[in-house]
Amino acid sequence: MAEYINLENLSLINFVSSVGRSLIRVSVSRRNRKKVFATHSRKLSFLSDQNIPLKISSGFFKLDKQYLNKAESVFKSFYKEKAIQKIKERLGLISERFDHRPNSIKVLGLKNRWASWSPKHNLHFHWKCAMAPVPVLDYIITHEMVHLKYPNHSPAFWNELDKKMPNYRKYETWLKQNGVKMSL
Ligand SMILES: [Zn+2]
Repeated sequence: MAEYINLENLSLINFVSSVGRSLIRVSVSRRNRKKVFATHSRKLSFLSDQNIPLKISSGFFKLDKQYLNKAESVFKSFYKEKAIQKIKERLGLISERFDHRPNSIKVLGLKNRWASWSPKHNLHFHWKCAMAPVPVLDYIITHEMVHLKYPNHSPAFWNELDKKMPNYRKYETWLKQNGVKMSL
């Protein structure tokens, strides 16, 4: 059952940095004496003695009350874990179309970008990739995989990307327009 929480405890929700635009915004409303917090497209409720700090259930984010003061790191860990699972799964399929593989994948809080690569063939993804719909995530991964062969956005890079994912422009546009609506 969702609990009634004092508002002064809630500065914690203002943690979310942005990629392009802010992805998680919080608004407060009262319903049946409960305070309900909209976290992008999902509501947030508080529970006691849940066995994990944060979960999604019945369409709600449910945060254990004892983690209220650590909500920022709890949310980030939650998204990171989801991102790693999703990226590994999609990369497994996508890399079959390539003759190279990344050495490692990391999920971090990147500044103003969804993903990046390093000359040592490591790929880095923003934890907010967890919120991307699968075709968009596939585009993000495919883009970085092509960079392992073509480091710059040269004509050869775009040509190769077009071969691997002929409809990529659609997802690039989607990311620019809808980043703010991404949800788990
Ligand atoms: Zn690029």
